[in-house]
Amino acid sequence: MSLRTKFMLALLFTGLAAVAMVGGLAYAGMTKKVDSLRRERAAEHFHASVTAYLAQYGSWEANRGKQGFDAFMRSRAPLAGDRPPPPDDERRPPPPGAGRPEPRDEPPYHFILADQEYRVLLGAGVYNHGELLPEAARKNAQAVEVNGRVVAYVSPEGVITPSRQELQYLAAMRDALWFGVAGAAVLALVLGVLLSRGLGRTLGHLTGAVRAMHGGSLLQRVPVEGKDEVAELAAAFNAMSEKLARTHEELNASHQTILTQAEQMRELSVRDALTKLHNRRHFDEQACTLFSHAVRHKRPLSVVIGDIDFFKKINDQFSHATGDAVLRQVGEILRSHMRLSDLVARYGGEEFVIAFPETELPQAAALCDKLRAMIEAFPWHQVHPELKVTMSMGVYADLAAGTAEAMLQKADALLYRAKETGRNRVCFAA
Ligand code: GH3
Ligand code: MG
Ligand code: MG
Repeated sequence: MSLRTKFMLALLFTGLAAVAMVGGLAYAGMTKKVDSLRRERAAEHFHASVTAYLAQYGSWEANRGKQGFDAFMRSRAPLAGDRPPPPDDERRPPPPGAGRPEPRDEPPYHFILADQEYRVLLGAGVYNHGELLPEAARKNAQAVEVNGRVVAYVSPEGVITPSRQELQYLAAMRDALWFGVAGAAVLALVLGVLLSRGLGRTLGHLTGAVRAMHGGSLLQRVPVEGKDEVAELAAAFNAMSEKLARTHEELNASHQTILTQAEQMRELSVRDALTKLHNRRHFDEQACTLFSHAVRHKRPLSVVIGDIDFFKKINDQFSHATGDAVLRQVGEILRSHMRLSDLVARYGGEEFVIAFPETELPQAAALCDKLRAMIEAFPWHQVHPELKVTMSMGVYADLAAGTAEAMLQKADALLYRAKETGRNRVCFAA
């Protein structure tokens, strides 16, 4: 059952129960009051009539052959709205031989009349004529006095039927009660539809927004209608969604920063701080991969090691800073003449290493000689007027060496040979 149906049912039941309770109590109270007023008035009227009757005739027995009590009652002004006793001729005559009239032959008076010795004169359908009124019934009996003498007793107990007018009042009240119930039901339904419409709409927005958040769109905004608790919930939801989205954005940004920093750290760990070329560790790792690739695919690979000539002298003669500038410039010359697939690194001190994938020894040797010539031809006097820089290189290209490291050792041996044979030259072997 939807929340809206529950809400409307609750309103409906509450409305009906309230109307039924108030109307029912009012109806019951009114019925009771009407009954008690009528009973009081009828009792007074009956008492007054009996008093007048007995005052006129002296005693109940004295009326025999004269005017009967019911004829006397009819001759008196009737009680407003009261039902008059039926006429004499409508009453059935007493059965022959009966000593005293049967109670059913008496007019339907609703009150019990007894003489001064509590013998029943009118039994109201409860007691028979002539029988003694029981003790319990005597308690509330009112004495009828004529000339200061008690001549009879009237019991106020009696069965009173409401008058037509009173019945109409009660019927009108019952109708009003039904109209009230119907009105309350319609009001409850209308109120239920109106109130639950706003509630249902906001809840619908919230459900949609939560689903969208679950789908990844954290920044959601639902309309805030009115100032009730549901509106507060919607406003709180908007604030939460905004904060969540902001936090998520910040988290993403810091995650991105961490990734960037990690990348920078990784880059730093494989770079040489002075020349910005890759370092020895990176070269060893990558050379290993290049070597495996070359062997597997039977592709050529050349490995080079270069060493600046008399570098110690450069340091000593010009300065360590000049030495650093030379290292940086040599590094730049090497880097700027490499292909993207070539691998160049500062191996340590003033030594540089290069791996040329897909390159046979002659091309590698030629390229190295070009590099050597470029280093020699660089305008070093711009760094220092007397500065001259050359480099010796060893190039090796035989994969049979077994490993990249072994190839590098062979290249180092060739470099040694280049140093031995006069420096500023390239020595190579297949
Ligand atoms: P050769 O021609 O035989 O190679 O002689 P060399 O002087 O170049 O060789 P040696 O190995 O004797 O000298 C290398 C020098 O390089 C020693 C060291 O102080 C210097 N060196 C090593 N790393 C750096 C550096 O980062 N900056 C500077 N300025 N000098 C460095
Ligand atoms: Mg050296
Ligand atoms: Mg050297």
